[in-house]
Amino acid sequence: MATENRLPTPITNDERKRQLTRNKCGLNSALLYWNPDFIALGRRLVVLIWLQIVGNTVIAQEVEVIAPAEEKLARQIVMEIKRHEAGLGIWWTGHNGWLLKANGVVVGTDLVLADPSRRENPPPVSVAQVAKLLDVSFVTHGHGDHFNGPTTRYLVSESDCMFVLPVSCLDEAKRFGVPPDRIVTARPRESLSVRGVQADALRAIHGNKKGAVYYEANLDDCGYVLHLAGKTVLQPGDSVLLEDHLFLKHVDVLLFSPTEHNWLIDDSLTAIQALEPDVILPQHRDTYPLSEQNRFWAQGFPHEVRLRLPETLQKRYRVLSMGEMLLVE
Ligand SMILES: [Zn+2]
Repeated sequence: MATENRLPTPITNDERKRQLTRNKCGLNSALLYWNPDFIALGRRLVVLIWLQIVGNTVIAQEVEVIAPAEEKLARQIVMEIKRHEAGLGIWWTGHNGWLLKANGVVVGTDLVLADPSRRENPPPVSVAQVAKLLDVSFVTHGHGDHFNGPTTRYLVSESDCMFVLPVSCLDEAKRFGVPPDRIVTARPRESLSVRGVQADALRAIHGNKKGAVYYEANLDDCGYVLHLAGKTVLQPGDSVLLEDHLFLKHVDVLLFSPTEHNWLIDDSLTAIQALEPDVILPQHRDTYPLSEQNRFWAQGFPHEVRLRLPETLQKRYRVLSMGEMLLVE
C-alpha cells in the first residue's frame, strides 16, 4: 500500500487473502464473536479475531498485532492515559492517529495501529494496549491509512468504543464488521454528540499530487472540530484548504497535514495565520517508508512550515515524536 503510486485503498487483496476459510455452515448471521487466539508466526503476533459468516462460509479474520516501538514507552503511555485527569492529554501515534483524553473520555482520530505497512516504523502503543482504553474512534475518510481494516477489526472485537464514521466509510465499515449500533454517522457541517463528546463535522475535499483536488474526492468525507475539556481541536482529515477551515477563525489545537496532497507549506501557513491556534501540531508525516511514488501523501514538511512562521506562532508549534505526551490546560 505505502509503495504504490496511488492513494491507499480501503482494503487490499493481500488483506482478503489473509482471510482464512475455516468451516462451512448454513447460518446467515452477520457476526459471531470468538475469543482471540494468539498465534506466534516467527516474531509476528497474529490474532484470529472473529468469525464472520458470509453466506455458507465461516471466515476467521486474521489481525497482526504490531508490537510497539519500545515496550517501556508503550507502558508509560498506557499509564499516562489511565492517570490523566485534568485538561486535555494528547498523544501522537503516527500519521493522523491521535489519542486525546478529556474528562475521563479517550478519543482517537484515524487510528492505524495494526497496519502491516507499519512494521518498519511501529506505533508507540499496540492496538491491543489501546483497545480497552478507547471510548470513541473518529474516522475522516475511507483510505487505509485513515480507516484501517486490521485496526478496526481488532477494535470491533476487543474494544467497546463507538465509531464516528462519514457516510463514505459505511460500506467499508460493514466489511470490517462494525456493528450498526456502534456507529455514529457524521455528515459535513452537522454536529454530533457521542459518549459525552461534542463534535462538529466539517467538509473535507481530498487532494492529490500537485495539490489538485482528487478525481475521486468524496463530498461525504469529513474533518472534525472536537470539543474536549473546553478546548477546540481541529482534525481536518485529508482535505485541500477550504473556507470551512478559515471560517473557524480560531481553534485551540490545530492538527494539520503539510503534505503535497493536503496543505503543503503555503496553505499550512495561510491556515495557521488565520486560525492562530494556541497549539500547532503537524501530522501525516514520518510514519510510512518513503518512495518516489508515495511521496505526495507520505512525506510531510513540518520544519519548513515552522521556519516560515512568525516567532509568536513558532512558540506554539510542536513537532511531536510518537508517543510523547502533550498536556493542554
Ligand atoms: Zn492520508
